[in-house]
Amino acid sequence: SLPVLDVQKLKTYFYLEQGLVAKAVDDVTFSVYPGETVAIVGESGSGKSITALSIMQLINKPGRIVEGSIHVKDKDLLNLKPKQMTTIRGNHIGMIFQEPMTALNPVFTIGNQITEMVRKHKKVSKQIAEQKAIELLRIVGIPRPEQITKEYPHQLSGGMRQRVMIAMAISCEPELIIADEPTTALDVTIQAQILDLLLEMQKRYNMALLLITHDLGVVYEYTDKVIVMYGGQIVEQAPTKQLLSLAKHPYTKGLLSSLPKMDEDVERLGTIKGTVPAAYNFPVGCRFSTRCPFVMEKCKQVNPELLQYDTDHLVRCHLYEEGGERQ
Ligand code: SF4
Ligand code: MG
Repeated sequence: SLPVLDVQKLKTYFYLEQGLVAKAVDDVTFSVYPGETVAIVGESGSGKSITALSIMQLINKPGRIVEGSIHVKDKDLLNLKPKQMTTIRGNHIGMIFQEPMTALNPVFTIGNQITEMVRKHKKVSKQIAEQKAIELLRIVGIPRPEQITKEYPHQLSGGMRQRVMIAMAISCEPELIIADEPTTALDVTIQAQILDLLLEMQKRYNMALLLITHDLGVVYEYTDKVIVMYGGQIVEQAPTKQLLSLAKHPYTKGLLSSLPKMDEDVERLGTIKGTVPAAYNFPVGCRFSTRCPFVMEKCKQVNPELLQYDTDHLVRCHLYEEGGERQ
């Protein structure tokens, strides 16, 4: 079937002072199929949030999508007028951000904001939209929804605000939800509840979910497919089970070994030393070469291609190329 989301060769660059170009997203290709849950995993600075913002067309100067295509079903997002894109956001794609306070308007009540969202995308009366708001709050597990509609965002806890954001995201039953670190700002006990709710909503409305996270631990229970990003590029991609048990890329292995408890047969590397290089100053060769324990001479000169290692398993590393050590 047709993917809900199809991203091809996406490049989003930021044009900085002194002629510096930050290649925040640099040739990224992936698809999400109906009902599928896909995780994009990486440290901060890996390009995962910029990928999400590019899909939503929320990149501002000095950033720009310089190449590639983004399709939601048969709609070519990079060739839509701003007004058409507004319809796509909400009707076809719902977005949930890390900090709901920034996405909710502090001066309007919760009820007001959900009602507005519903009415922006569906031609219904105010009264029907208000009823819909209460119903949505009930669906996302908010107690006393009639009361909550009268409250302001700051009167709710972080977890409740994130539930409100989920209610708004699902209000128009989009085909795809993009959730960027939806639980990072929450207490550990609340995190699992919010992820469970997202999954429950995904099943209920048969939506696809693109979950962006720095925490590989999250993907274990919740996702079908994992995309690992580093330095603005995909370095590994595989079905979740396969990625967790048969990770190939040294970066993925490093991420896995920093998890508390994983399968014992995963090759351990210890915590990855160093930090993600700045996007305006990537190494010439492999972007992970400055931190990789397996770095070879070739790695410092040539950035490897993303190649097929196995069915549905892609890896970007010289070790696995034809004639490579681990081929
Ligand atoms: Fe490490 Fe070289 Fe593979 Fe890059 S290409 S991940 S530096 S072994
Ligand atoms: Mg981010």
